[in-house]
This record gives sequence, structure tokens and C-alpha cells, in this order.
Amino acid sequence: MSIAEFDVIARYFIQDFPKRADVILGIGDDAALSSVPEGMQLAIAIDTLVEGVHFPKNTSPEDIGYKALAVNLSDMAAMGAMPAWFTLALTCRKTDEVWLTGFSQGLLELAQTHEMSLIGGDTTCGPLTVTIQVTGFVPPDSALQRDGAQSGDGIYVTGTLGDAGLGLASIQKRVTLPCSARQFVESRLNRPTPRLVEGQALRGIASSAIDISDGLLADLGHILSASGTGASLQLDCLPLSKTLCELKPLERAWLMALSAGDDYELCFTVPPNRVVALQKALPIRSYTRIGTIEAANGLRCLDANGRLFVPEKTGYQHFN
Ligand code: ADP
Ligand code: MG
Repeated sequence: MSIAEFDVIARYFIQDFPKRADVILGIGDDAALSSVPEGMQLAIAIDTLVEGVHFPKNTSPEDIGYKALAVNLSDMAAMGAMPAWFTLALTCRKTDEVWLTGFSQGLLELAQTHEMSLIGGDTTCGPLTVTIQVTGFVPPDSALQRDGAQSGDGIYVTGTLGDAGLGLASIQKRVTLPCSARQFVESRLNRPTPRLVEGQALRGIASSAIDISDGLLADLGHILSASGTGASLQLDCLPLSKTLCELKPLERAWLMALSAGDDYELCFTVPPNRVVALQKALPIRSYTRIGTIEAANGLRCLDANGRLFVPEKTGYQHFN
């Protein structure tokens, strides 16, 4: 049964979300009002998930809610920002209460973890589309940007790469995996972990950062073009999960790690004189050095013997 727009908002998007002291007026008026902590800058990001494009049609509502917020928090992480508030524009065909319950629970889970208030939104009828806009805080002049990488900086990534891509391949039945491996990679796809702690710890240490949403090559490519540099990557250094390592031949696992999207790990660069600070700021196992920024433009992938590996695709692009 369908319920009315205002009942949807009242039932699913008001009650249980964290109430923050800096929210002066939340859901219910024409706009929300909130106060910015003294001396902080605002970091603002927005991301849309479209059914069939950003998540497969049979994705659970819990996972859709979780992922819609997670991908935005990942943008906050990539800037070194602390998330505070978010708004939600939800477009769906009907107000299905079972779906809405699951969706709001997935959303709530991550909002509670990060003490985030849902302060407003819009609810409309149409093909399933979820847009979330997140606002966070960052101390002046300390946000991590894409344009600061310099020749000689090390290139690093958090976590492991390619698991989400394997998760999508598994859901689309392009690969068959044992049950526990399937659960692992599908949860990496549907419930990415925004690297907020890492992003905030990298302020003053990383010379540039980006989150990996479209694949390592594509996203590192954005750092390179913004910074006016090139890079080389050591393929044998790519952090691969045990599950991805089982993908044979090895080139297939590399390709997944290099060009599949949706990992939402951070890729960042650190100048040699800040490596000690990096080691103090983050647990050694939470990140991996995978290459070096170079003056010569272009991105070179080298295998263990120094041979050039040319991947057949670089990453996901809309409108292609
Ligand atoms: P308006 O017509 O003034 O745009 P709406 O009727 O769209 O207001 O929304 C009423 C209130 O409910 C507003 O405060 C709006 O921010 C909030 N709201 C609407 N949809 C959502 C949603 N999906 N999630 C959170 N808040 C919402
Ligand atoms: Mg409105």
C-alpha cells in the first residue's frame, strides 16, 4: 500500500536520526538552519545513485540506504573533512512501506555511526533515484585536494582494491565464487567503508587525495591531471584481498584492482619528508604504497620485472 508524501517523511526520515546541537531547525520548514563552528570551513558534496546504473535492480533497500550515504561520506573522507549534516532527495515509483523501512534502516545505521543529522530533503515520484548531499567541516587551508601531488611523492591507497568490482561480477553472474567469498565481495560493493578516520588523519601529511569511485586508474588520473604530473605504479604492490588473489590469471585480478569502480578506498600522495608523520598517523596495515609521482606525464603500470602492463580499460565513465 502507498502512503502519502508527508507520512513518508514523518515515519521514516525524522524520528531516529541523530540530533546535533548545531542544527537549529531540521526537517519541517522550507529550509533547514544550522550553525557552523567558529573558524571552520564547510565541505559540501553530493552524489546520486540511480537504480540499474549505480546499483543492480535487486539490491536490498537496506544496502541502497547505506551506500547512498557511504559514497558521500567517502567524498568527505577524501577531503579530510568531518561530516555533520545531510539532505536526502528520494525519487521512487511508490511509497512501499517494506522498502522504505529497509531503506531508512540502512541509512540510519551509517548516520548513527557518524553522528549525522538528516536535516531536510525532497520526496518525489519517478524511477528509483537517491541523491544525498553531505556537509562537513574542515579547518581552514587543511582540506586534502587533488592538485597538490609533486614528483617524488609516494602514491598510497587504503584497504584493498578490486573487491567491489568482483562483487558486481558475482551479482551479474560473470564469475562463480564460494559462498563466503561471494558474501565478502558483495558486501564490499553494497556497503563500502568510508575512510573518514584515515582522511582526517592525513590532513597536513598527504599532498593530494581522492576517493576511488570509478577505478584506481581513472581516479589517480584525476590527481595527475590536476597536479600536472605523471606516475608509475608497481603492480606487485597492489593491495589485493585473499578473495581477489584467487582470481586467475593474476592479470585479471590486477585489471579488477586497477579499473573496477566502487571500492571507495582513498588514493593519496605523501612527500618523502612526511613519510614518518604518515607512519605515526595511521596503522601501518591500513594503507599500502603502490607507486611514485613522476614529472613525465602519463601513468605507467609496471610488473615485478619492470615490464609495462597496458590495461584494456581504465575506469567507469557515464555517457560512454
Ligand atoms: P517544500 O514544498 O517547501 O519544498 P517539502 O514538502 O518538499 O517542502 O518538504 C517538507 C519538509 O520535509 C522539508 O523540511 C523538507 O526538507 C523535508 N523533506 C522532504 N522530503 C524529505 C526526505 N526524503 N528526507 C528528509 N527530509 C525531507
Ligand atoms: Mg520540496
